[in-house]
Amino acid sequence: MSCPFDVVHYRVLLEAARQGGYRFAFFDHEPAPGDLFLRHDVDLALPAAVELAGIEQEEGAVATYFLMRESVFYNLDSEEGRWAIERIRAAGHRIGLHAVWPNAQLDDRFDPVLAWHNPDPPYMTGPVEGAVNVMQPPWFAQGHYRSDSNQHWRSGCPHEELARHEFEWLQLLTHPEIWVYPGGSMRETMLAMLEAERERRLEQLASDRIDLS
Ligand SMILES: [Zn+2]
Ligand SMILES: [Zn+2]
Repeated sequence: MSCPFDVVHYRVLLEAARQGGYRFAFFDHEPAPGDLFLRHDVDLALPAAVELAGIEQEEGAVATYFLMRESVFYNLDSEEGRWAIERIRAAGHRIGLHAVWPNAQLDDRFDPVLAWHNPDPPYMTGPVEGAVNVMQPPWFAQGHYRSDSNQHWRSGCPHEELARHEFEWLQLLTHPEIWVYPGGSMRETMLAMLEAERERRLEQLASDRIDLS
């Protein structure tokens, strides 16, 4: 089977995890055999996060969504931000902070869990006061981590290994934008995201009483 970065194959991943007998876990306990920590870093687009949250709910999966307070792409304090938080939580998921070093202030919108955005080695795996850093041991460990950075799995798509229960436990990082918007390459996917953004922006302009006639 080829492994495209689309929502159909994302469902295959979840199905493989179920087939392998994994439990969907939150970062509120140390990894135990059979745990699958679904982690989503939301770097670019809240609508993609909300869509993936719904897909996971349909598939009986729960995940932790890491949202940014300092994104140049979205505003968590806006109406859209409040909508996204509400929808993600309503689908049964948790919300952590996708933090920009060194700012790690969590407020009551967040569960006590943090993932650094584009971290540098000196602080990447260090502890954080008042929260679990997902990259600190024991949640981050050699052989127990896969990520989809820029549509590239460094050690391959894990769907077959999940189905065969080859990981004792796993932290699986995926970025919703990569899966929700169509495209055969990262560039195509990003252009599709920008097309969707354009529509959204036009709606926002209209609701901001901008004359588009
Ligand atoms: Zn695959
Ligand atoms: Zn990030």
